[in-house]
Amino acid sequence: MMQIIVVGAGVVGLLTAWECRRAGAAVTLLEQDRVPSPAAASYDRHRVLRAFHRGDPGPARAAREADRLWREWEEALGADFYRRVGALTVLDRTDLHEQLGVLGSAGVVADGLDGQDLKSRYPYLALPAGAAGLLERDAGVLLADRVLTALADGLARCPEVRIEAGRRVAALEPDGTGVVLADGTRLRGDAVVVAAGPWSRSLLEPGQAAELRLYRQTLLYCEVPDGLRQDWERAPAMPGLGTAAGAWLVPPVAGTPLKLSASAACREVAGFDGRDAPGGLRDLLVDHFAGLLAGFTPAWVRSAADSYYLAGADTHGPRLHRHPAGPTWVYAACGGSSFKFAPLIGRALAQWALGRGPVRPTGLPVLDHHLPTVDRHPSTVPPEEATPP
Ligand SMILES: Cc1cc2nc3c(=O)[nH]c(=O)nc-3n(C[C@H](O)[C@H](O)[C@H](O)COP(=O)(O)OP(=O)(O)OC[C@H]3O[C@@H](n4cnc5c(N)ncnc54)[C@H](O)[C@@H]3O)c2cc1C
Repeated sequence: MMQIIVVGAGVVGLLTAWECRRAGAAVTLLEQDRVPSPAAASYDRHRVLRAFHRGDPGPARAAREADRLWREWEEALGADFYRRVGALTVLDRTDLHEQLGVLGSAGVVADGLDGQDLKSRYPYLALPAGAAGLLERDAGVLLADRVLTALADGLARCPEVRIEAGRRVAALEPDGTGVVLADGTRLRGDAVVVAAGPWSRSLLEPGQAAELRLYRQTLLYCEVPDGLRQDWERAPAMPGLGTAAGAWLVPPVAGTPLKLSASAACREVAGFDGRDAPGGLRDLLVDHFAGLLAGFTPAWVRSAADSYYLAGADTHGPRLHRHPAGPTWVYAACGGSSFKFAPLIGRALAQWALGRGPVRPTGLPVLDHHLPTVDRHPSTVPPEEATPP
C-alpha cells in the first residue's frame, strides 16, 4: 500500500487525503494546529461557489464540475453543508450580454436581470445606476466549518488514515521523499502533498516564496433585524455588487450571520499579525454598506475579523510547485477561490502523488479540470504557462 504524507488539514489537504484514501493509499495527515484549525484560510461560516469568472469559460466549466462534486461529497459524508441559493453578480448593463455568453459557452445556466428586475427582486439593495445582474442557479454557499468537520470526522474513521494534530512540519526533505517536523522527527512516504495554505512560503525555496504575496482581508459578521430576516434568508450569494470598492456579501443561510466585505478591505501584508480587524477598515465597510443595503446600521455588526490568503504575485491566483528532487507537491498559493475548487484540486494532487490516471507520453497524468494550475504538470510546461491566466 502506498504511504502518502499530506501536510495541512484545510479543505485542500482534507480532500487530498480523502482522494488518496479512496484510491487505496494509506495517509498520514499532519496539522500544526487543531483539526479543523480556526486559523486556516478555509475556516469560516461560509464560502461561495459561483461559476462566473469574467470573460473566462475555463473556470466556469470547472465550477460546474465542482458544484457536482460538492453534492456528491455531501451525500457520501451524510452531511448538510451546501445551500444552492444561487449567486448574483452585479455588473454594468453594457457588459451583461457578453458575460452571459461566456457562461453559456461553458454550459452554465444563468439569468440576466435588468435594473428593474434587480429592484423588484432585491428591494433592499441600493445599486449603482446602470447596474444589471447575472444570476446563476447552480451556485450558492458552502457552509465551510461544517465541510471541514464532516471531512475530518469521516477521515478519522478510516483505519488507514492517521490524523496528527499539533504536528508542525518545519522543512521538506532535500530529496523530496519526506518531511522534518518541528521536534526534529523525520517522516518518509512514497509521496508528499503540502497544502499549507497561507503558511506555504515557509516550506518553499526562497525564490519560489518570493513569487507569492500574503493578503489580509477584513470581514463584518452581521445579524439582520427580525423584520428583514425573511428576505435576507432567501437571498442568493452576492460575490460582486458592482461597486467601485468591490463590495460582496454572503447571506445568512442556515442560521449563519450575514457576512460583508469588499476588495477595498483587502491588503497585502508582510506576515501574520492576529485576526483583529483594524477600526479604520471596519468603519470603511460600515460606511460602504450603509449606502448599499436598505436599513443597514452599525448595530447590525456583531463582530469583525481578519482572514489571510496567499496568492501568486503576478496572477493573484493559485500556484503549484513540484519538488525538484522527489515526489513532493506543494499547492503553494491557495488564492481567493480554492475552497470551491477544492474537490478538483484534491483529486489532481492525489493523482499526481499516486502516479495514477490517464498519462501523457512523459508518464505524467493528463487532467482536464479547466484550471491551468491543476491541469498541467508544472514540470511539463514552460514557467509562463504554469499559472492561470
Ligand atoms: C476572506 C476570504 C474569503 C474567501 N472566499 C472564498 C470564496 O467565497 N470561495 C472560495 O472558493 N474561496 C474563498 N476563499 C479562499 C479559500 O478560503 C482558500 O483558498 C482555501 O480555503 C485554502 O484552503 P487550503 O486548504 O489550501 O489552506 P488552509 O485552509 O489555510 O489550510 C492550511 C492548513 O495547513 C496547516 N499548516 C500550515 N503550515 C503547516 C505546517 N508547516 N505544518 C503542518 N500544518 C501546517 C494550517 O494550520 C491549516 O490548517 C476566501 C479566502 C478568504 C481569506
